[in-house]
Amino acid sequence: MTSLKPQPGIMDIVPYVGGRESADGATRVFKLSANETPLGPSPKAVQAFRAVGDNLEIYPDGSGLALREAIAARFGLNADRIVCGAGSDELLHLLAQCYLGPGDEAIVSEHGFLVYPIITKAAGAKVITVAETDFTATVDAFLAAQTNATRVVFLANPNNPTGTYIPTDEVRRLRAGLRDDVLLVLDAAYAEYVRRNDYEAGIEMVATHDNVVMTRTFSKIYGLAALRLGWAYCPEAVADVLNRVRGPFNVNTPALMAGVAAMKDQAHVERAADHNEKWAEWLTREISALGLEVLPASANFLSIRFPDVDGRRAADADNFLMKRGLILRGVGAYGMPDFLRLSVGGEEANRLVVEALTEFMGDRS
Ligand SMILES: *Cc1c(COP(=O)(O)O)cnc(C)c1O
Repeated sequence: MTSLKPQPGIMDIVPYVGGRESADGATRVFKLSANETPLGPSPKAVQAFRAVGDNLEIYPDGSGLALREAIAARFGLNADRIVCGAGSDELLHLLAQCYLGPGDEAIVSEHGFLVYPIITKAAGAKVITVAETDFTATVDAFLAAQTNATRVVFLANPNNPTGTYIPTDEVRRLRAGLRDDVLLVLDAAYAEYVRRNDYEAGIEMVATHDNVVMTRTFSKIYGLAALRLGWAYCPEAVADVLNRVRGPFNVNTPALMAGVAAMKDQAHVERAADHNEKWAEWLTREISALGLEVLPASANFLSIRFPDVDGRRAADADNFLMKRGLILRGVGAYGMPDFLRLSVGGEEANRLVVEALTEFMGDRS
């Protein structure tokens, strides 16, 4: 028995389990469990990454200036208010560390991204979970849960794993109902995939309010998950706080250089978004036609509900698909035991998933 005692809350954390990577026995494997892009990163980003290999003895630019300027130019932002991190994950952790402590509360939604409870508990604060309606975050539920102890509200928009989003006017109503000393964290990891007129990632809200932060990532549409790169657009005071606490060289040079090249290659981003729109629609149509419920997908993944019938449950489907090398993501940990989450893949993978599900749902007598 160790006598070492971690800080309060830490032993209450249920460790995060990522999407599986391997399928025993299958000869070809399609990993559709982590919402990675089937198109990969921009070739220009790969080239920039490789070029760094000759100078690995040099520390990164701790201010990440080139990357912040590339992001600022792309979105019309103030570069001083951008903070980069080792994945948006690091930025979310830092936000929790800086704005939550023992006695404080953070509000999350029922099927919200599981990183939020982890970082809230790691900071010693309490997680308040509020109900969703039709697997969609509900502004009224967030507002009803606000107490004097509330310090942070975490909202993934679109949310993972449900894939649902809430429109800009609802996000505005949420912020307007929060006290000025409550920080609204808008996690827009999938923003580039959303093609809806009533959706905004949150840039304008950050620009016009002191208590909203938006986080973004290079892991999803930019295809740089291996490099761990994300950014936050912050009110001036929040950027100042994060810059005091983050590691001085928290983002490595290969990530910074690849990130700059990826940000400048918006044609690649467009291609990925086009591919996704086409195949997310196709998968939704084909899978719904099998009699399975598919939640309305606004990002690059689908949540598929399986019937509560022997041999047809989510776990059965998971095993069935796995034997064919198709790796999906069980989301029981998200309170959705009858669902599997499917990342939109390349054409071949998408067709194989529909073929396999057709067989799974068909008469197998
Ligand atoms: C994938 C994902 C992220 C991205 O995390 P990184 O640390 O940037 O790789 C953030 N939020 C949500 C909701 C996600 O699904």
